[in-house]
Amino acid sequence: MDLSSREAYEKMLDRVLTKVQMNIAGRGERSISLTPEIVHEHRQTIIQNFKQLADALGREPQHLARFIFKETGRPGTLDGERAILSGRVGDEELVKLLQLYFREFVKCPVCGGIDTKIISEKRFRFLACEICGAKTSIRKI
Ligand SMILES: [Zn+2]
Repeated sequence: MDLSSREAYEKMLDRVLTKVQMNIAGRGERSISLTPEIVHEHRQTIIQNFKQLADALGREPQHLARFIFKETGRPGTLDGERAILSGRVGDEELVKLLQLYFREFVKCPVCGGIDTKIISEKRFRFLACEICGAKTSIRKI
């Protein structure tokens, strides 16, 4: 093994990509399918398709990112399509956080619908459901 391929090999060992298939259910047959692509590299956890995940959830990447940074207690940044967290966050923990986010900020607690949006009124935030019309108070993040 020459030096450059050895370096590439070591780099590869330090970079582990996992793809986690997950389905989160709304009302009836409606569900959202997410496949987070998570890379662990050095002391960082990179979610490669972060923007795509936020799009699938119908939320702004910045909002989802603030939630993840807050819940993990780790600083992070958005970088184009990716989100980069400092430190090592396990795949299971990230999947759990995406499910939590869905339950708290996407799924209507009244009818279970997923056609919702976040609206701001003064300093309050609400989850507004387009199906049943419910307006549920949510925390600001
Ligand atoms: Zn509803």
